[in-house]
Amino acid sequence: MVIANKIGTLYIVATPIGNLKDFSFRAQETLQKVKLIAAEDTRHSATLLKHFNITTPIVSLHEYNELERSKVLIAHCQNGDSIALISDAGTPLISDPGYRLVQQARLTGILITPIPGPCALIAALSVAGLPSDRFVFEGFLSAKPSVRYTRLNQLAKETRTLIFYEAPHRLLDTLEAMVKVLGSKRKVALAKELTKLYETVWEGSLNLLLTQLKDDSILSRGEFVVLVHGAEEDQEDMETKALNVLIPLLKVLPLKQAVVTGSEITGIKKNYLYQLALKLNNG
Ligand code: SAM
Repeated sequence: MVIANKIGTLYIVATPIGNLKDFSFRAQETLQKVKLIAAEDTRHSATLLKHFNITTPIVSLHEYNELERSKVLIAHCQNGDSIALISDAGTPLISDPGYRLVQQARLTGILITPIPGPCALIAALSVAGLPSDRFVFEGFLSAKPSVRYTRLNQLAKETRTLIFYEAPHRLLDTLEAMVKVLGSKRKVALAKELTKLYETVWEGSLNLLLTQLKDDSILSRGEFVVLVHGAEEDQEDMETKALNVLIPLLKVLPLKQAVVTGSEITGIKKNYLYQLALKLNNG
């Protein structure tokens, strides 16, 4: 009789984004019990693991070796060893390596389990005071100005809250580009050094923020999340969107149900859809 080898699990483990007290018990326990930890920067992570007396061996997995290293890590799991992936800070795969590893692991049928925890974009959104029901995470804008402008232009009409990561040395350039493309009055929030000693959240118009930050010497250091209020819905676009959804819905559903469903599909307020539906029903 052949006894099948038990397959190991790949754990995707979030680590603190600054405050070590945010390292969950489950994350610590998992990192202690796995056979191997794959980390973006082994030296950086060794300090964290040492602090928590985690003695599991570490190997590197970064942008440049991810494809090759993934094969080796998956082979470990197939041989019955569980492994964990961590990044320098926060949740792996979120503007960090790991996507290719997870993608390949999924193809092999290995069990993949998240150990959720800190993530800068979610922490920032939770305190920014901008609409949080729908949002778009854009990660880092390109370092190339032309590419950055093109991307911002593509996002100019986006009505959901926009979230960006940004390096301190590019922050002013990025805000300047945003003023030019999105307009000086657009509401923005800037979350700096979340969970750390100098945690600060600014809010105001893009213009005001830019003016304030231009004189600010503390900008040269730290980590930032930039959150921008979505564009106001263009009335014409909104009406077209609403009609495209309402007309077919009204053919198969009673008015109120069509309005509720239409609102769920489009995100457009029920009251607006209700008035439009009444007009449609009245010919
Ligand atoms: N995987 C991480 C996560 O879950 O948030 C993000 C990694 S990405 C390479 C690093 C960027 O995240 C930083 O440049 C900054 O934009 C943002 N970030 C990370 N820690 C932060 C913090 N404590 N406060 C504000 N932004 C932070």
